[in-house]
Amino acid sequence: MSVWDDLVGQERVSEQLGAAARDADALVTAAAADVPPPEASKMTHAWLFTGPPGAGRNQAARAFAAALQCVSPDRALGGIPGCGFCDGCHTALIGTHADVSTIAAVGAQILVDDMRDTVRKSFTSPANGRWQVILVEDAERLNEKSANAVLKAVEEPAPRTVWLLCAPSIEDVLPTIRSRCRHLNLSTPSVDAVADMLVRREGVEPAAAMAAARATQGHVDHARRLATDPAARARRAAVLKLPLRVEDVGGCLKAAQELVDAASDDAKQLAEEMDGKETEELRNAMGGGQGGRMPRGTAGVMKDLEDRQKRRRTRTQRDSLDLALTDLTGFYRDVLALQLGSRVAISNADAEDALERLARAGSPESTLRRIEAIAACRDALDRNVAPLLAVEAMTMALRAG
Ligand SMILES: [Zn+2]
Repeated sequence: MSVWDDLVGQERVSEQLGAAARDADALVTAAAADVPPPEASKMTHAWLFTGPPGAGRNQAARAFAAALQCVSPDRALGGIPGCGFCDGCHTALIGTHADVSTIAAVGAQILVDDMRDTVRKSFTSPANGRWQVILVEDAERLNEKSANAVLKAVEEPAPRTVWLLCAPSIEDVLPTIRSRCRHLNLSTPSVDAVADMLVRREGVEPAAAMAAARATQGHVDHARRLATDPAARARRAAVLKLPLRVEDVGGCLKAAQELVDAASDDAKQLAEEMDGKETEELRNAMGGGQGGRMPRGTAGVMKDLEDRQKRRRTRTQRDSLDLALTDLTGFYRDVLALQLGSRVAISNADAEDALERLARAGSPESTLRRIEAIAACRDALDRNVAPLLAVEAMTMALRAG
């Protein structure tokens, strides 16, 4: 099982990355043997991965990072690097490789303070003599300052540094940065490709795999969660009941409150899993020990961590709401398909009764207005409008009539 198997329905991109990883390996080998590097290398020091949410742009970048660190003996026999098993691949995939650093937004933006150490590292040589990989998971969240820091680093890279930037689309990244990157665009994986992955990798029954793949419209992570996590299925079922509950003002407000509460619960759960452990690790690292007094000058560092954790909670809540909005949009898209007489395209076959009822009760125009209301809610959340206000405005707009 190679690192490329994690990319669902992206054969063309996997091929290009595999070829680049092989050339990258040839460069390392030539340098080690002190011979001139091979000509016409497909390797380059900056890459931009784009593609719709769920297509797996972070996974593609991560697989490439692993392949660059692959030390499997098969490489010498002409195999594509990225075996998935060697120490290089394994540690790169789980995020503990010393020469693979990840920059990801903990809040709405990537702050330059959060990435300063990593940028500094990008100017140094890799510890193991292969590649220093810097993976930026949310390049669209770079603000002006942090984008400038990245630009400077990409303009003058250390010889063995590779930047891997991921963003939804090419327009999300500064022209000055993207002009220095090789661009790879992932497409939405087909329903069949996602279902096939669920059967092969997760051991899901074929019919259930197909239903989850269809309901999530090519979003690999959502499909996996829906197919394997009963709580995710319950959550989605509740979201899909919402369109039938927004008949009066009371119903709208109640539904909005429940959506926001569910998202807060998700954020709280993640915080419980991670915050305490992080705080304890930092305390220990600074010599505070359990319950002991903290050395002087550490209060600022602890405060930084608390700020990061708070921003992460906000983002988790947003992500969770976003998932609910995606499910809702899919639902109304199905209503629209029924109203337009195209039954084939239905993705929420499990909610067919509700779909039929709403299709009969409204017109294509009213359905389009509701889809726009959901998009407006998403925009409002992006602009940092208080979640409950944004969601209430949406549920009110979803009301019949
Ligand atoms: Zn390997």
